[in-house]
Amino acid sequence: MDKRQVIESVNSLYTELDELSNNLWEHPEISGTEQKSAKLFREVLQKEGFKIIDEEAFPTAFYAEYGQGKPVIAVLGEYDALPNLSQKCQGTKEPVIEGAPGHACGHNLLGTAALGGAIALKRYLQETGNKGTIRFYGCPEEEILVGKVKMIKLGMFKGCDLAISWHPMSTNMVFEGGYLANTSVHYTFHGKTAHAAFAPELGRSALDAMELMNVGANYLREHVVDKTRIHYSSYSGKFSPNIVPDYAVDWYYVRAPFMSYVQDTVRRLNLVAQGAATMTETTVDIKIDGGCCELVPNVNFADLAYANMSSIKQEELSPEERSMAEKLVQALAPGVSQREQEKYGFSTSITTEVLPRNACQQTSLNSSSDSGDVSQIMPMCVFTTACWPLGCAPHTWQAAAAAGSGIGRKGMHYAAKIIAGIGFDLLKNTELDKKIIEEFKQKRNTNYVPQC
Ligand SMILES: [Zn+2]
Repeated sequence: MDKRQVIESVNSLYTELDELSNNLWEHPEISGTEQKSAKLFREVLQKEGFKIIDEEAFPTAFYAEYGQGKPVIAVLGEYDALPNLSQKCQGTKEPVIEGAPGHACGHNLLGTAALGGAIALKRYLQETGNKGTIRFYGCPEEEILVGKVKMIKLGMFKGCDLAISWHPMSTNMVFEGGYLANTSVHYTFHGKTAHAAFAPELGRSALDAMELMNVGANYLREHVVDKTRIHYSSYSGKFSPNIVPDYAVDWYYVRAPFMSYVQDTVRRLNLVAQGAATMTETTVDIKIDGGCCELVPNVNFADLAYANMSSIKQEELSPEERSMAEKLVQALAPGVSQREQEKYGFSTSITTEVLPRNACQQTSLNSSSDSGDVSQIMPMCVFTTACWPLGCAPHTWQAAAAAGSGIGRKGMHYAAKIIAGIGFDLLKNTELDKKIIEEFKQKRNTNYVPQC
């Protein structure tokens, strides 16, 4: 089998991959509940002759292995959905079930393309008897940014040399850096209840403390490094206005380009929380839930991903798929998609073209992913393929609609082929692997520890 044959072998998997992706899309499971989704992947992999390695402490996570010897290549798959984003596969907003979860980050496509790429590579190893190992990683709980961090802590990535990852998006492009490091923190304020009219002087309001903390955080926002993101949600229980609340919770995410910046901002945010507690004579419990790291850039690996992406063709969209893409774009605020098109020099809202290698300098992945942690322990490449129109963002009903449609599935087929191409090169060209691993060794943060 030559490289072209390995890549084209993905064509014969389309029916099976489409079925799996649709099945996941129709039965979305949010982070921490992905039992059925993980089972669907395990079944296909087992049938294909992979050895399944489960982890008792984390039943929705697993990896499946085929082959012998080095290099050991990890292909990262995810399958969790998002709460409250149920959406029919159509161009207008309408949930399948009101309030139900939906695949608005396209992880039904993400996991399935990873599976397709891994199967193509496995069949190549099987047919040629060549040395090398392919591992498909079933990674749950990405949407709450802890799944892979937990897997690292449990040692599930031991023995891997290189990792291939991708994500559905609106463009075909390769990323060399990106992903904001993130930490999640809960601040729980405790005060004293009192009758809010009869004896307000006896009350110490946890809600006041929480509000003051948020005011302080919003002032802190000005004095942090560029690209820092501070966001929160809060609740103070079910108190009525005539009770001084003795309990309130603030839940914060702090993100920044590097984990060291995040940690320093969290330190300052803790001072804000303590200040708010002092002002209100309440107390605060601070619980750091965990966090995930930024991507360790790897130019050699990104070059390889780009070479594969630009030598493989994405299927063209049908007129029906184009018209659905148009409808999705029309539902956005005026000009959103046009501005994206202008930025990349496109004249349509969805395109199968590949953005130039340096396009990632204009756009960075201003989100976070627990895949960043995988890039801290081994070289990892990241690319995106066009699975929804320009201007549409992940975590929206538009993305959920596209992820269940032919638009998403064509992006998924393309991703599976790119993974097969990259994996083939890694299996064949050990000199290239050495170069990628050497770059990783130079750039990695040797102080990395999984935060969960
Ligand atoms: Zn995602």
